[in-house]
Amino acid sequence: MYDDYDYYDDDEWSDRVERFADPGGSSALHVSDKDNPRNLPCPTCNYPNRLTPRDVAQGYQCDTCANAQEQGFDTDWYEGDEDDETDT
Ligand SMILES: [Zn+2]
Repeated sequence: MYDDYDYYDDDEWSDRVERFADPGGSSALHVSDKDNPRNLPCPTCNYPNRLTPRDVAQGYQCDTCANAQEQGFDTDWYEGDEDDETDT
């Protein structure tokens, strides 16, 4: 009697597919398109072009930061162009 038992919640899955850029993965970020381009820096690490305006409006950070936070790693901070490094 368990043959056609549905373990899989189709409704929940289609919500995820519509909502997330990477539904099967760990990303919570929105899909980028012409109305929602991925052209904004991450508020946490400052890497450019990491987030869309919708992501920022909802207070998201980039996948790298989100994963680092989830797994307890340190974020890889963006430190700008190497050019203006002034060691000595
Ligand atoms: Zn980030």
